[in-house]
Parts: sequence; C-alpha cells; structure tokens
Amino acid sequence: MTWKIETKCLQEGYKPGNGEPRVLPVYQSTTYKYDSTEHVAKLFDLSVPGHMYSRISNPTVECVENKIAALEGGIGAVCTSSGQAASLLSILNICKAGDHFVCSSTIYGGTLNLFDKRLSEMGISITFIDQDASEEEIQKTFQYNTKALFGESIANPKISVLDIEKFARIAHKNKVPLIIDNTFATPMLLRPFEYGADIVIHSTTKYMDGHALCVGGVIVDSGNFNWESGNFPGLTEPDESYHGMIYTRDCGKAAYITKARVQLIRDFGCYMSANNAFLLNIGLETLHLRMERHCRNAEKVAGFLAGSDRILSVSYPYLKDDPYHDIAGKYLPEGCSGVVSFRIKGGREAAVRFMDKLKLAAIVVHVADCRTAVLHPASSTHRQLSDEQLVLAGIDPGLIRFSVGIENVEDIIEDIRQALED
Ligand SMILES: *Cc1c(COP(=O)(O)O)cnc(C)c1O
Repeated sequence: MTWKIETKCLQEGYKPGNGEPRVLPVYQSTTYKYDSTEHVAKLFDLSVPGHMYSRISNPTVECVENKIAALEGGIGAVCTSSGQAASLLSILNICKAGDHFVCSSTIYGGTLNLFDKRLSEMGISITFIDQDASEEEIQKTFQYNTKALFGESIANPKISVLDIEKFARIAHKNKVPLIIDNTFATPMLLRPFEYGADIVIHSTTKYMDGHALCVGGVIVDSGNFNWESGNFPGLTEPDESYHGMIYTRDCGKAAYITKARVQLIRDFGCYMSANNAFLLNIGLETLHLRMERHCRNAEKVAGFLAGSDRILSVSYPYLKDDPYHDIAGKYLPEGCSGVVSFRIKGGREAAVRFMDKLKLAAIVVHVADCRTAVLHPASSTHRQLSDEQLVLAGIDPGLIRFSVGIENVEDIIEDIRQALED
C-alpha cells in the first residue's frame, strides 16, 4: 500500500512490532553489542544491516532518516548535526581540491559564506549565477572540472522560486547532479526529485523541527543520478579508506548516500544525535498540518502588507504581481511557506523601529518556527556579507524577513498594524 504524504508524516520511519513501544524510542547509546567478531566484520563490510557506532548511524536517527527519505521520495537519507553540515557534505561528497561547482547566488547567507569562503580555502572553486538567467548564460559558467549545480527551491530570504526543471536540464546536459536545498518548501509543498533534482538537502532546524528545539540537517538521495560518467572517481574508484569499496559497484543506486555516511560522516563526525532525532520526529508528525496553516496565514499577512501604504514592496510568490507568481503556480500549488519578505518605507531605520514595536512577533535569529518571528537580515544573518553580496543575494538593507507562525492570523495582522503606526 502506498500512503499519502500526510500519512507518511506519522507512519513512516518507525514501525513497531508486536508489543514494542508505540513511540520511537531514544536509543541513547554510543555503541552496539555483538555475539561474534564475525558479525562485526560483516557490519564493516556493509554486508549485513546494523549499527556500529553512533558517530555513523543510530537506530533512532535511522528511523527519522527513513521517514524523511519517504517524504521526499528518495532511496535514502543521512541526518547531520546542522543544515550547514548537510550543505557542506553534499558538495564534499563529490568535489575535492581542484574541482568546481556552479551555484545560485540567491541562497541562504550561511551557505553563501560556507561555499564562497571555506570551500575556496579548501581549493574548491565556485561560480555564483543569477538563477533567473537563461540556460545559455548559465551554461557558460560550466567548466571541465564542474561537479555540481546547487540552488534553493524557495530562497532564504529573497523568497524567489527556483525553476528546478531548468536547473535539472542544465545539470544533466553537463553530466553533473542538481542539488536542491528544500528547507523552506519542505516535502509537503514541493518534492524536487519530481522535477529532476538528484540530491535534496534540508536544514531540519526550520519547518521540519518546527518548534525551534534543535539544530539539524539531512541529505536525501534520489538514487537517480548516473555517477559512472567518469566525472566522479570518488564514487567509481576504490576507497582506500574503506578497504577498497567501490560505491557504485557495491551500493548501486545508494552509492552517493552510502559514501556520505561511511566516509564523510565517519571522518568529519557531524552526525545527528539520537535525542535531536527524537525531537525532530515529533516535529515531522505534524509537518503537514503546520505547513498548511503557515501558508494560509502567510497569504493573509502578505495580502495585508501589500495593501498598506507604509510598505514599499512585499515578496511572497502567492501575490499576483510577485515576479515568481507564475513559477510558484507550477512548483508550489499548495502554498509558498510561511516566510514573507518586505521592505518598509524609510529603509533600515524604519525597519528597526517597526521590529522593536512588535509585541506578538518575536525578534529572533531563526525562521520557520510555529511561533511568529521577525528578523532583519542585513543586521543579523547576512551581516557578514558585503553590500554587493547583499544585492546579489537579493537583500535590501531595509528588508524584513517575517516568519508567519500558526497562531490566529487576525492576532498576527493586528500586531503588524499597530507596529506600522507612528
Ligand atoms: C538555516 C538554513 C540553512 C542552515 O541550516 P542550520 O541548520 O542553521 O545549519 C541552510 N539553508 C537554508 C535555506 C536555511 O534556511
């Protein structure tokens, strides 16, 4: 039987047997006990399923990985200690010093910094592109050593919508995978694999958790990409650090995601903890309900803001005159998430005054939480970016990122109304 996605939120992942706990247990253990050395050897050979050490896998985390893989329609997933770790490993799994990848410039500031600064220090070069540029323009940035194309389905905080099919065409023409950060959309609103993406990553810290409880991330593999073009020796040649394993030969469709776990997660040590996975799972059980309410509330908030003479512009693709309205109609028919960006008349100063007057909406360095929250990117999350980079990332110094929660929307709008008054 194939379940609908709402049912998967509750029923996938942990499937208790007769007499077992109803709720996913927290397997709070670093280690696992075996009856024979032979069994341990088989575990290391990956010839039997099981767990060796909680830096590499853990039964609680595994259930959550299986649930997220089911929600995205992938063949496997690996949870990481943060969204940043997921972005980093998604690239490092296929790029080494001397390689290059192409990335939309309209991405989360933390990712931009990680890619632009840390990865280039490590010898991996990157070309940032305007995601709305033509296929021909984007094609020009591909080089002989390009290994991936990266973008965000709904960009944080510009709230632009990516043409995933266009990106997939460009990536596949160049025999490289398309990696999509699907954090804001979540699989409830958009499943990038259905449009040709090969790898999906998330900061689970945001809507998936939904309650601002734990920082986390996940990498999901569609299992669809052909790694055997000669472009990805890390997957097709023996891994000397893993007794000669050839991931494509030994793991088939799960080559990428297996390598990410047994090589990168093992060596870098950035796996999710069992406790955090337990909490994330509780969040995932209501993801479908929360996303629906986030979207309906945000549509009303965006409509209110668009009608206010104090507001310069509102970015929310649901709005008819938003530049991403048509493309959202294709990729986000059920809603555009709860995040609305807008600019107040009066620039940076007016933005700060507005934020300080809010009573319900809390000033936090967070987004995509069940409680309404507000943030000024230029003075917080994107503080490290130059003005030029801010513009590239689609961020005006007066931009406010408003994360609409699941409270009664009339209370949220009333709060905004009073804060806009003189
Ligand atoms: C927050 C965020 C990240 C980074 O995730 P952390 O869990 O904070 O490390 C990556 N991508 C997007 C779109 C985000 O919003």
